Amino acid sequence: MLTIDGSMGEGGGQVLRSSLALSLMTGTSFRMTNIRAGRARPGLMRQHLASVEAATQIGDADADGAEIGSTSLSFRPNGVCGGDYTFAIGGAGSTTLMFQTVVLPLLLSTTVPSTLQLIGGTHNPMAPPVDFLQQVFVPALAKMGARIDIAFERYGFYPAGGGAWSATVHPTKKLSRLELVERGEVRSRRATAVAAQIPSSVAVRELTTLATALEWDRNDCRSLTVRASHGPGNALLAIVESEHVTEVFSGFGARGVRAEAVAEGVATETARYLRAGVPVGEHLADQLLLPMALGDGGVFRTVRPSTHLTTQIALLELFLGVSITAEEESDDVWRITVPAKT
Ligand code: ATP
Repeated sequence: MLTIDGSMGEGGGQVLRSSLALSLMTGTSFRMTNIRAGRARPGLMRQHLASVEAATQIGDADADGAEIGSTSLSFRPNGVCGGDYTFAIGGAGSTTLMFQTVVLPLLLSTTVPSTLQLIGGTHNPMAPPVDFLQQVFVPALAKMGARIDIAFERYGFYPAGGGAWSATVHPTKKLSRLELVERGEVRSRRATAVAAQIPSSVAVRELTTLATALEWDRNDCRSLTVRASHGPGNALLAIVESEHVTEVFSGFGARGVRAEAVAEGVATETARYLRAGVPVGEHLADQLLLPMALGDGGVFRTVRPSTHLTTQIALLELFLGVSITAEEESDDVWRITVPAKT
């Protein structure tokens, strides 16, 4: 049984989710202490517990310490079972982070297709929006030979939640090598501002601020009015489509945060990516490491590594014994090399 200090690196929910996924795929049991010690309210919160429960379900696993507030967990998997699952997080916990926990095990460690129905938050701060999974993560996995289909149904925002989407995961024996070192020509730059049960003027202000900051054509920025959500919410998405990759940058409205501030945050992140000239943005970078390390490895260029990325590197070393390298090429341009699984 591996012993993992949950306070390592970023010290948040990602250490736990990645450990669950790696445990399911390698069959290695683990005991984690100091869960989310790096956060203001440490321990398992509802959304982390939902990931533990989902992993327990698909892996027929035994889990000790799976309760709200728990700072330690033992997890013993018993083989991954593909099939039809419904995972509902009460409230607006992130369904996309829960998806991150189970998608690779269902892809790589089973022989039957799985369908997932996910209910909860779909557009949460500090998590990939479903648009990111659909337009960035899933296409990147498709380059490695994976087939995952996502169907979006309903927006779910904090605090009401109630968003819904589904995914079909077609298992594959092996993921092929990924080389993503060039972005190629930028083919389109566009933005969408989602306004659910809030004045549409919020979306208009966000798009005007974003288009001005990035010098994008205002005609490529559209607002989307949503009525069918369980509660109010707002998301701003900037989409950069290039020859070899698509990236999505996002920001979310919150009570007391001005629309202009949301747009400035998204514009800053998008401008950084465009300036660096790399294909892989900060978030895709940390999310690519597990599939690459469990497949034929590869290489990509990205912006300066986040602590999420360095944490994934440390965790992969623990579980798989692989040594992933991050080399600085120039200002905010890094090359990440992942060896193939032996
Ligand atoms: P905690 O509650 O402990 O803060 P968490 O469970 O919310 O943690 P993190 O450990 O912060 O999770 O991990 C968040 C994950 O979401 C990372 O993989 C990160 O790359 C991804 N992520 C965060 N924001 C975005 C975004 N805007 N677009 C795409 N991915 C994102």
